Amino acid sequence: MRIIDTHCHLNFKVFRDTYRETIERALAKDMGLIIIGAAKDTSERAVMIAHEYTNDPVYVAVGQHPSHVGDEPFDGDWLTSLAQDNKVVGIGETGIDLYRPEEIASHELQKEFLTGHVHVARALDKPLIIHSRGTAETLPTAIEDVLGVLRGGMAVRAVFHCFTGTAKQAQQILSTGCMISFTGVITFAKELEATVKAVSLDRLMVETDSPYLAPARYRGKQNEPLYVEEVALKVAEIHGKEYDEVLEQTTQNAIEFFGL
Ligand SMILES: [Zn+2]
Repeated sequence: MRIIDTHCHLNFKVFRDTYRETIERALAKDMGLIIIGAAKDTSERAVMIAHEYTNDPVYVAVGQHPSHVGDEPFDGDWLTSLAQDNKVVGIGETGIDLYRPEEIASHELQKEFLTGHVHVARALDKPLIIHSRGTAETLPTAIEDVLGVLRGGMAVRAVFHCFTGTAKQAQQILSTGCMISFTGVITFAKELEATVKAVSLDRLMVETDSPYLAPARYRGKQNEPLYVEEVALKVAEIHGKEYDEVLEQTTQNAIEFFGL
């Protein structure tokens, strides 16, 4: 694998008719993919899709996203059993989202879900994919809460995905042993330059979070795993490194982190 999109949602409805061609385009470029579940149905669908590619680097994470905590109860038995599938390399996405008022209202419930995911991850020895989002006012709480739950569950093998916090918050996360991954947001949000710079290459991974967050060059188009190259290019630019070095290091990081 030359590059890995460590977080994409080819299991979501918008890819229903196109996920196969999208995966094949990525595989043709020697890419690896990790498809992320956000609820029971999309997690199961991710596993189903990955099994169409038995011998290819198409992997899955399964979990119940914090924005869905009001839709279905946390189901530890379901999660434990699905997570034992051989294509499942991570637990999530899970975490704390305090961006919208209704998400703030479900704060306690989100913590319960997160705690449940941490227990399953620890029991199965799989890494966690953390979604941690908030406004400038609420993001510090979201991060603190996640780190608190991770500490409580004695789990530090986690990645903060689509990270958009400050350099200081990045350092706080890195000091606990977690990894950080960036999306195409870094290609258009100038204020994230200092944050990207604060994450050394050996702790950094790249992702698209497609179909969302198309990088600057493809703004307005539907995002897809191929465009993860734009994220790696921006990381290379900000770190003043060769593109190939960024590819090699971030791919190695993902292989080790997810045990691919
Ligand atoms: Zn996501």
